[in-house]
Amino acid sequence: MRISVIGTGYLGATHAACMAELGFEVMGLDIDPAKIEALSQGVLPFHEPGLPELLRKHVATGRLRFTTSYEEVGAWADVHFIGVGTPQRAGEHAADLRFVHAAARSLAENISKDALIVGKSTVPVGTARSLVDVIRRHSDPSVRIGLAWNPEFLREGFAVQDTLAPDRIVFGVDDPADESVLRAVYARALENETPLIVTDFETAELVKVAANAFLATKISFINAFSEITETVGGDIRTLADAIGHDARIGRRFLNAGVGFGGGCLPKDIRALRARASELGLDQSMRFLAEVDQINLRRRDRVVHLAENMLGELAGKQVAILGVAFKPDSDDVRDSPALDVAVRLYNAGADVRVYDPKANHNAAGRFPRLDYVDSLEAACSGADLVVLLTEWREFRELTPEDLGPLTEGRRLIDARNVLDAEAWEAAGWQFVSLGSKYTP
Ligand code: NAD
Repeated sequence: MRISVIGTGYLGATHAACMAELGFEVMGLDIDPAKIEALSQGVLPFHEPGLPELLRKHVATGRLRFTTSYEEVGAWADVHFIGVGTPQRAGEHAADLRFVHAAARSLAENISKDALIVGKSTVPVGTARSLVDVIRRHSDPSVRIGLAWNPEFLREGFAVQDTLAPDRIVFGVDDPADESVLRAVYARALENETPLIVTDFETAELVKVAANAFLATKISFINAFSEITETVGGDIRTLADAIGHDARIGRRFLNAGVGFGGGCLPKDIRALRARASELGLDQSMRFLAEVDQINLRRRDRVVHLAENMLGELAGKQVAILGVAFKPDSDDVRDSPALDVAVRLYNAGADVRVYDPKANHNAAGRFPRLDYVDSLEAACSGADLVVLLTEWREFRELTPEDLGPLTEGRRLIDARNVLDAEAWEAAGWQFVSLGSKYTP
């Protein structure tokens, strides 16, 4: 079976390389020629642990190729996965489906043998059903083109392992023949007893957005409690540990901090609200507005703490540790860390940024911040250090590491990963989110 993957960003490039690893012949397609050029040379244009090795391996064997030609994939592949972006529409909450529609239409126009199109992008409920019509109108009637929805649950930073060994697999199908094709594609995972849910288009689309809405809610839930412990005292980490012992709640995704970001959770909860509203169900998803607001207030909190600790920001040197939206990723889309860095800069601080992998992407968005290539360069002479992305090298920091470098011995741990007692004992003014600020 030959597989094409349409859109070779974080999701698509990972999926393409992993399908090759499973033994399929794969062709990745993107409309960005620079991306295709890099991938064809075996060069991954973003950071994802373990993926460069897979890419190089399968480009070298010839099992994994890349193209910008829909005509080529349309004549070649039996299964076409769509993994193009579904970003938030400018100035609105709804998802921008132009890329998904364009990909489906281009495939329909170019597929010249029986094939299955499989949507992986995260889309509002109802999208797959609307694509059936797009495909029918633009395809050769003598060719049978099936459609299925197979949402993707990979986490950046763990994308390879999540793709090769997923928690569960969901097929949204309309025809048993399409289910059989998907079962053949995922045979390895199914042999390993990965739970499989076979359902209709609508449920498959909703599973993905429901999962993301739940995760976002869990983070904002604990962050809302941070607002209370910041006011009355108490320890948010102990609170999270204590409730997390209840198996019905679980400890994961209960880390209080500067909140969620990235290319998925924020835009997915907004798109879900927008879709519910279109369906006349505004009230059902209204709580997600609160989830979003709690999340954004965490960023305000870090900026206010910095102002309180430094008095006046103008002329003060602030070291920013981390701008990626999460560790082990270079993704800065809707990154809380980058947002806070920019706001401190706009308030007059002299901001020095160090992220092990994301400086380049952040500089592409906000070139005016001062990006440096080491922790030492960021912290030397700093009046305040703000830990915003919990990379391992930051989680392992000790007061002894930073003490000799900084000017001010002030630190905000916006991810709750350091040992407050150790820093305070070493004479630091140490503040974490969820703890009461006492000047
Ligand atoms: P991305 O922006 O990294 O990649 C999207 C790619 O699609 C880009 O390379 C773009 O050039 C390409 N593209 C756009 N229009 C195209 C077209 N008509 N034909 C071919 N290529 C086209 O985005 P991403 O993070 O990979 O996300 C893709 C989708 O997967 C989104 O719906 C996202 O919500 C979903 N998703 C992402 C993740 C993740 O962790 N990144 C996880 C699960 C689901």
